[in-house]
Amino acid sequence: MRLVIKIGTSTLAHSSGRLNIRLVEELCKVISDLKNAGNEVIIVSSGAIGMGVSRLCLPSRPEDMPTKQAAAAVGQCELMYTYDKLFSEYNHTVAQILITGDDVKDKDRYAHFKNTIFRLLELGALPVINENDTVSTEEIAVGDNDTLAAIVSKSIRADLLVLLSDIDGLYSADPRKDKNAKLIPEVTAIDEDIIKIAGGSSTSLGTGGMATKIKAASICMENGIDMIIANGATPEVLYAVCEGKCVGTKFIGKR
Ligand code: GLU
Repeated sequence: MRLVIKIGTSTLAHSSGRLNIRLVEELCKVISDLKNAGNEVIIVSSGAIGMGVSRLCLPSRPEDMPTKQAAAAVGQCELMYTYDKLFSEYNHTVAQILITGDDVKDKDRYAHFKNTIFRLLELGALPVINENDTVSTEEIAVGDNDTLAAIVSKSIRADLLVLLSDIDGLYSADPRKDKNAKLIPEVTAIDEDIIKIAGGSSTSLGTGGMATKIKAASICMENGIDMIIANGATPEVLYAVCEGKCVGTKFIGKR
């Protein structure tokens, strides 16, 4: 199975912004095991800005572009250092790919991007992709990593995209506010109701929320790729996902 796993800032870091060591260690162990079992895995990882914020001791996520880009420059190093260190323990080699919206819009650059990923997969490496936040501005950015992960999944014809988040999946209402909210196990079409339910929720350190996840789902579904939103708090959930068990919310790709 060719699997794209998107890891959100809220999964990687504590609310303080500092690395959630136990969780990231567990996640790298499970992903290594999935690769050992013969799956091809591509990671789309957020966390650069969040980690830079904590490393630079900034009071909160910056609003201005230079500070955001500075935080990303610092945080991306910590992110890759962490992945490199942990995946090396299990004999896996990581490869950093940083892209912007322009790289997927330009035909030639897009082709190079795809060729590089395919070659990395042939070589057995583990691509870790993020937006190139240090140079991307609003006009040229993909903007959020849920969408980026969907674009990546489409370009490499993934079998499945898993968005690991701090929530179990898509609920009928915001479960943080409504105790009657119910998890929706399967979505076969993105209609008005789903868009309304998704609203505009987001976390303080990342940029995504349900709305960007639904946008990612529509890109995947349109291209015949299944997508799952699952809670990254228990990385073992990825085993269940690969075994085809019912986890989180599954969006069924067009057949
Ligand atoms: N590229 C951003 C980062 O690494 C995250 C964007 C997102 O989470 O959607 O901080």
